[in-house]
Amino acid sequence: MHFYKQGLKIVITKWIILIIIVFLIYWSLRSLQQAKKQSAASKKEIEDMVCCAHCGLHIPRSESITADKKHFCSLDHQQLYLKSSQ
Ligand SMILES: [Zn+2]
Repeated sequence: MHFYKQGLKIVITKWIILIIIVFLIYWSLRSLQQAKKQSAASKKEIEDMVCCAHCGLHIPRSESITADKKHFCSLDHQQLYLKSSQ
């Protein structure tokens, strides 16, 4: 009986250690993901802003339409600009 109790204690201790390890892994993965999200968000904020050559609207470079070294907020404005410059 005494040996059985001691064995049970070891099993419980093992499980507690296992749960702590799993929790630590889960927690570190979660904080890593949050850090990734934050860096991605701040990257977007720092992103270059360009000015639409037609209406002067400020838009992120990745969302702008670039033609002839000029940036436009939409395809319509690109075409309007090209028409007016011809
Ligand atoms: Zn525009």
